[in-house]
Amino acid sequence: MADVMPEIPSLRLPALHASHSGCWLAAPDGSTRGLSRGEAIMASAETPLLMLNAPLVASRLGYPELSGLDLLELFAFIHPARFMVPTPKGLAHALNLPEPDGEADVPLLLSRAAAALFAHCEADDWAEREGAWSVLQSLARHGWPWAGLLAPHVKRPEKAERWVFAKLPEWEERAPRPQPAQMVLDPDAVADRLEELTGEGAERREGQRDYARAAAHVFGPRRERGQPNMLLAEAGTGVGKTLGYLAPASLWSQQAGGTVWVSTFTKALQRQLRRESRRAWHEDPTRETPAVVVRKGRDNYLCLLNLEDALQGGFSGRPAVFAQLVARWAAFSEDGDMVGGDLPGWLPTLFRRRGLAALTDRRGECVYAGCPHFRKCFIERAARHSAHADLVIANHALVMVHAARAQSGNGHREEGAATRPARIVFDEGHHLFDAADSTFAAQLSGSEAIEMRRWVLGPETGSGKAKSGRRRGLSARLADVASYDEAASKAIADARDAAALLPADGWLGRINEGQPLGPLEDLLAHVRRVTHSRDESASNEAGYGIETEAVELDGPFLEAAATGRDALARLRQPLMRLGARLDALIASDKEDAPDWLDGQTRQRIEGARHALSWRTDTLTGWEALLARMGGPADPDFVDWLAVERAEAREFDIAIHRRWLDPMKPFAVTVLEPAHGVMQTSATLCDRSPVPKDAIGDEGREPDWARAVARSGAGHLDLHPKLAEAASPFDYAAQAEVLIVTDIPRGNIGALAAAYGRLIEQSGGGVLGLFTAIRRLRAVHARIADRLARGGLPLYAQHVDPIDTGTLVDIFRDDPRASLLGTDALRDGVDVPGESLRLVVMEQVPWPKPSILHRARRAAHAAQFEAPRQQFDDAIVRARLAQAFGRLIRSRGDRGHFVVLSAAFPSRLLSAFPAGTPIHRLTLDEALQRLGSRVFCESTGQNTEEQKG
Ligand code: SF4
Repeated sequence: MADVMPEIPSLRLPALHASHSGCWLAAPDGSTRGLSRGEAIMASAETPLLMLNAPLVASRLGYPELSGLDLLELFAFIHPARFMVPTPKGLAHALNLPEPDGEADVPLLLSRAAAALFAHCEADDWAEREGAWSVLQSLARHGWPWAGLLAPHVKRPEKAERWVFAKLPEWEERAPRPQPAQMVLDPDAVADRLEELTGEGAERREGQRDYARAAAHVFGPRRERGQPNMLLAEAGTGVGKTLGYLAPASLWSQQAGGTVWVSTFTKALQRQLRRESRRAWHEDPTRETPAVVVRKGRDNYLCLLNLEDALQGGFSGRPAVFAQLVARWAAFSEDGDMVGGDLPGWLPTLFRRRGLAALTDRRGECVYAGCPHFRKCFIERAARHSAHADLVIANHALVMVHAARAQSGNGHREEGAATRPARIVFDEGHHLFDAADSTFAAQLSGSEAIEMRRWVLGPETGSGKAKSGRRRGLSARLADVASYDEAASKAIADARDAAALLPADGWLGRINEGQPLGPLEDLLAHVRRVTHSRDESASNEAGYGIETEAVELDGPFLEAAATGRDALARLRQPLMRLGARLDALIASDKEDAPDWLDGQTRQRIEGARHALSWRTDTLTGWEALLARMGGPADPDFVDWLAVERAEAREFDIAIHRRWLDPMKPFAVTVLEPAHGVMQTSATLCDRSPVPKDAIGDEGREPDWARAVARSGAGHLDLHPKLAEAASPFDYAAQAEVLIVTDIPRGNIGALAAAYGRLIEQSGGGVLGLFTAIRRLRAVHARIADRLARGGLPLYAQHVDPIDTGTLVDIFRDDPRASLLGTDALRDGVDVPGESLRLVVMEQVPWPKPSILHRARRAAHAAQFEAPRQQFDDAIVRARLAQAFGRLIRSRGDRGHFVVLSAAFPSRLLSAFPAGTPIHRLTLDEALQRLGSRVFCESTGQNTEEQKG
């Protein structure tokens, strides 16, 4: 093996590769041998081995304590913020090395990759040199295994290096943007802009042109306050809807001088939008801030103050190494986005995600202008840039939270009512209902209550964090205010006393032992008692979470709820008093203000005010939730009690409240203040089967009434415009649906065997979708080794220690790989081409029969005077349509969609695009069709089942 590529230098260190098909070890002289898992573990204990993705190797060996010299960590140090697929092939591509011929060649590749990376550190053109030497010194102090080996290759700089905090650019204050001009877009200009964007010579698609012209409607002047221009547009896969709406959006923003928000549900679409928006907004060096900005929730971004805490002793051991690598990344990152941005998704998993949450602003502890890094803060920069951007790319939850805060006056100083999203395109609009459902939900849980306690009191142990200025709770954060203002000081003291009544560390253990402490722990103990006593679902035995309706509650429960509510009010009242004192201070003019209230302190107090409002709103919501316990049911809400569990272990206890129709608050919060709103998706409408002669050959028609009801428009008496653009794909020629009828439900052995044979027959390229993690794991455990021995790697969510985004990158990069997963993969995977040839669903994806689902199903039946089953069917059809949508992403794609279901109801078949051939058959017949890769002629006709 050693003499395959003799001219390439390699590092003289042993290297290990382990996969489902075996283990290989290369000796320092380059000779490679296969070895057993036991021998591999022994070898790793004797000497540090080169390896790629140590947690994955550990999981393949079944030895979690494994450690070694991980090439991924070395890559992250030398090339921070650079994309790489973390596989041997991906590593070879990233470093311009030849791909390994087989698994036995991988250890040698690792040695060569290490040598190449070391050599790069000595090259003059190392783009990421700045800061490397200093960070390496810190890494050496934290015992990073690469530090000693790397040190001779990283030259000490001649002058002191800038630390990450010095290197980052500062944002500048800018005058607020004026209102956009009112205008109506010329349809011909929209079509011309679309042509510009699609590029010269691109095939002209009439559907896309009509779609773009229809989208222009939302940019016209609004006729009535509270009545935005609204469009619901369904565009089948392949219509080119992103450019379709970017054409009028870019035209309007450039001519009217306003901001358009495009909101997505998945990160994959955000990435695509970022790419495609470059066609409409070219680099413009005269602009002070970028034309296109990606906005995410605060907890996605690196908080520099948290990073500083971590670098200065807040972290130790492996998390400290992680913090140093994050510091390397931060210095080169485009926007500081740690989740789906340019921080490699695989980096946190190398450290078992320890330290990740503590580096973001997850608990809302930001001190704003009181922070020494305020002017360089990634979050502040994104907020300011978005106020001046032409296009803001965001997600549904962020748009809703942003609109809600603007409405309540709790907005960020830079993004209050004046910059609330006014013209919004909601792409992936079929997810709006679910996004609104979570955004407008209220829940009082043990984990949230303890966060509230910590925010007021700060850490109650003598840990390192306690020394950090920001984490000492409310009294330390507002010490200057307290010493100046007696009323504020009293309010802080009262809030501290009241917060001591909230759950404290160890609350779950105390409740389980029947010894709750304080009124809130007592209440949660009653929630647990009632939930366990009433649960009749199968979830209890299966180890999943359990729930019960919040009705017919007994006397002790109601007493505990009343006492809990009093305790919450006891905390809310002083916080509100404190808020009023802070308002007065902020409002004081220069003459009346105390000497210490300089500009920076004033901004810090504004930040504290903002955080206070957020907390008092939460407490008010919790009190309202408890006030309803035992009272008459409110028809707008569904309340229930839950014990949250994972793998039979309880991890939280909660009282939940959801809107029966979350589009009601969505309408008031998002639609009403907006000027134009478009909701678009490939699957906006349900298509229930209708008799053939009613509508012709298609056998289905879009249910616009349901789509309009789910858009929220009805709550404002809006009548949105409707538009539809059919997919240009020839589904009759490109795809087939195979319903396999001979796999008995509940037989894991048969299910696993079916997956194994389908993957083998297809030669990989399979996306396997499951509705239960337990079944996914069982199937994976039975077939992964055998498939790997045949050269067909199988990856799985919830099994491999790799984040979902990286799993999809790996899958996309290797046409012989297959991927198993659950919900997130059904809708967030964009893998055009050869890598995805077959989608397999293990069964019909029925909705979970939860309390909330039952209530909504009953409401739907009443509203539409329809059978209850119709509600479930529409959900399943939407899920099938989304899963099917993964298969054919371009005109060149071909593929099969398999459902392993003996009794797949015919009424669900209208989920698939018109013209798609559908067959019910046995597994053997399905394998035959896959083997022959037969697709029907392009007749546009469906099979009999589909019409039924
Ligand atoms: S301003 Fe807030 S979020 Fe930004 S770095 Fe400082 S503390 Fe962190």
